[in-house]
Amino acid sequence: MSTLTGNVFMISKMMNFTTHIRHAHHKCKILVIGGGCGGCTMAAKLSKNFGEAPNHVIVLEPSEDHYYQPLFTLVGGGIKPLEASRRPMKDVLPQKAQWIKDRVTFFRPNNNEVTTSRGDTIQYEVMIVAMGLELYWDQIPGLLEGLSNPDAQICSIYGSNTVSQVYDKIRKTNNGTAVFTFPNTPVKCPGAPQKIAYLAEDYWSREKKRDSIDIVYNTSLPVIFGVKKYADALWNICKQRNIQVNVRKNLIEIRPNHKEAVFQDLDNPDQTKTVKYSLLHVTPPMGVPETLKTQRDLTNAAGFLDIDPKTLQHNKFKNVYGLGDCTSTPNSKTMAAIASQSHVLYKNILDDLANKKMRMVYDGYASCPLVTGYGKCILAEFNYELKPKETFPVNQGREMYFTYLLKEYFFPFLYWNFMLRGNWNGPEIFRKVFSIIKKKDPLYEAAK
Ligand SMILES: Cc1cc2nc3c(=O)[nH]c(=O)nc-3n(C[C@H](O)[C@H](O)[C@H](O)COP(=O)(O)OP(=O)(O)OC[C@H]3O[C@@H](n4cnc5c(N)ncnc54)[C@H](O)[C@@H]3O)c2cc1C
Repeated sequence: MSTLTGNVFMISKMMNFTTHIRHAHHKCKILVIGGGCGGCTMAAKLSKNFGEAPNHVIVLEPSEDHYYQPLFTLVGGGIKPLEASRRPMKDVLPQKAQWIKDRVTFFRPNNNEVTTSRGDTIQYEVMIVAMGLELYWDQIPGLLEGLSNPDAQICSIYGSNTVSQVYDKIRKTNNGTAVFTFPNTPVKCPGAPQKIAYLAEDYWSREKKRDSIDIVYNTSLPVIFGVKKYADALWNICKQRNIQVNVRKNLIEIRPNHKEAVFQDLDNPDQTKTVKYSLLHVTPPMGVPETLKTQRDLTNAAGFLDIDPKTLQHNKFKNVYGLGDCTSTPNSKTMAAIASQSHVLYKNILDDLANKKMRMVYDGYASCPLVTGYGKCILAEFNYELKPKETFPVNQGREMYFTYLLKEYFFPFLYWNFMLRGNWNGPEIFRKVFSIIKKKDPLYEAAK
């Protein structure tokens, strides 16, 4: 079997031909499902250890393109072109790993095997699941219709195929009510639905249109942000800039022809309210891809990959691990979280393969650069307990230009050049260095 796999690997490497092989059987040491942020990062780390077939790394990923999604907010704000967030998948996946351009359709964790949509089977010693979240555009009646109409004032920074229309629609808005939504599901980057509202508000202020436009942020959540320190700062910003925030309001229907959006009051589910809008920015409901969700032995009741929140190892199948948005860990679903998770996972997998006790623990670290306008950002960093875990020796609960510069320039640089090459483990090292300064600076404690 391994000879066949070796040949398949060699031929596919030589001819870059993997997509055309049907019903092949592959065997590998590490199988990574998904070549997005988490999958690509783990493949890069582990392919440094495991190189030659059959003891190699396979990445199963159907997309031609890889997106740095955190940039979508800035694309929506007209700051970056969509192209800056996109690279061909073949250029970002590690050279030493084998890319199979296909999707998983069935998991057989008892046999350490998956099946792909072309009928290939892949056998693994260790499997890492990093399938991200799917966007459920069709769950809101009227949304797909509205998005496909260039004249309808409906937009979303969440899709790679919808984000480039956002800035145009913001620019076209001259009056009326601009409504921004947050759905009743877990979302990737829970700060993004309000970041785009702040950018739009700033744009309309600069264009002297602000007085003619009412801004409403309707969120399904009971709070504006999960961490009190940053929530307090954001409430103040909304108050100062006259952005109306309504909590527990869930978008359930859009009537694009009448420019009407219907919201359900989640505390009184029988009550709905119809709002007339001049711009509607929608964060769609999202969830785990169907293939994973329906695999009951791998997932929890909500359909997320059921892993230990500390070790990131599957709770039932000990050679299955997960990271990123598709897992059950209760952290904020961000790329920043994945950077920390990838370090823990890498070490734990190597320990486990060497029959050692796993030593690394993920503490739920996540970060959210809350862009509050052009050149302004609150850099939220926190852990599972929703306690701030800040890196820099300043109070990060304030809007700052330097954290905005990190978001616009430094983080994308870090992502393409270090994280996707397996060389970025999160800001822990900087935090340690800066903690020495923090301890020595009496003004820091006073400013916190
Ligand atoms: C608008 C927006 C703003 C954001 N802002 C920030 C931010 O400021 N900071 C931050 O840290 N994070 C931010 N994020 C979140 C961050 O982008 C995600 O948390 C991160 O991309 C998740 O990585 P992942 O690997 O879990 O999923 P993804 O990167 O989405 O990758 C999942 C991969 O799995 C593949 N896949 C799906 N189904 C299958 C299948 N059946 N078989 C094989 N492969 C499959 C997909 O093709 C995809 O490539 C933002 C996201 C968005 C959308």
